[in-house]
Amino acid sequence: MHSFHASLPDNHTASGFCSRCNKVHNLAMGASKKTSIALSQRLNEQQSIHFSVDSDKNREYLSTLPLFGETRGKMFGVLDCLTKSNRPVSLYAFSGQFNGQWYIDGWVPPLFKVETFHKTTYQAEKEIKALTREIKNTPAHSTNWLHLRKQRRTLSQSLMKEIHALYSLTNFRGETQPLTEIFRGKSNIPTGTGDCCAPKLLNFAAKNNLQPTGISEFFYGRETKSGSHSHGSFSSSCQEKCSPILGFMLCGLDTATI
Ligand SMILES: [Zn+2]
Ligand SMILES: [Zn+2]
Repeated sequence: MHSFHASLPDNHTASGFCSRCNKVHNLAMGASKKTSIALSQRLNEQQSIHFSVDSDKNREYLSTLPLFGETRGKMFGVLDCLTKSNRPVSLYAFSGQFNGQWYIDGWVPPLFKVETFHKTTYQAEKEIKALTREIKNTPAHSTNWLHLRKQRRTLSQSLMKEIHALYSLTNFRGETQPLTEIFRGKSNIPTGTGDCCAPKLLNFAAKNNLQPTGISEFFYGRETKSGSHSHGSFSSSCQEKCSPILGFMLCGLDTATI
């Protein structure tokens, strides 16, 4: 039913500039493209991202069908690795949340503790929602309306800073740093930085002494509104959110893989 662009050249990578080494660190697709295609076939067959063998009670909740509807598709990623004893293992990731969940068995976790994330965001999100309701009920462009909008913006910005401070990233030198320390961008840290597949996969590998041998990220589901991603298309790590952190994350990998 859903064709996959299996014939495209394997020239995608995860990369970023490392200020410590003063160069760009790269990780190519390698054979992980095959693993990605196998993963997409498994998603096609199961129509679910529920990979745990223990039970299938959440099967409906983890259905991939909404990805072909209004919510549209999402990026999935694979990191092929070797263990210390040279055994191959593949890690799987979905970008951001899946159906409101950060952590799903069988997939790498996010870069923060989920409970701490919920504690941090719960109260602030309630306040932001209340302000939004109030803004709707206030005459547009009135003094109070402007004041409420400013209040909401300040609250959102401080919440975003608090959220970014929760992200901690480990690289292949065994160093762990908060996102706020390592982001190398010209502007503020964009929303969703650290939630793409590449940083989740690399962080998990680095923390678990796994040697990456190839990375691939592909889009699965109905194409994005802008048309930038279509079902089955592979992409390199993104410029806006990933490039400014992957230099740090990939550091130590070049020498470690020899
Ligand atoms: Zn990204
Ligand atoms: Zn480096």
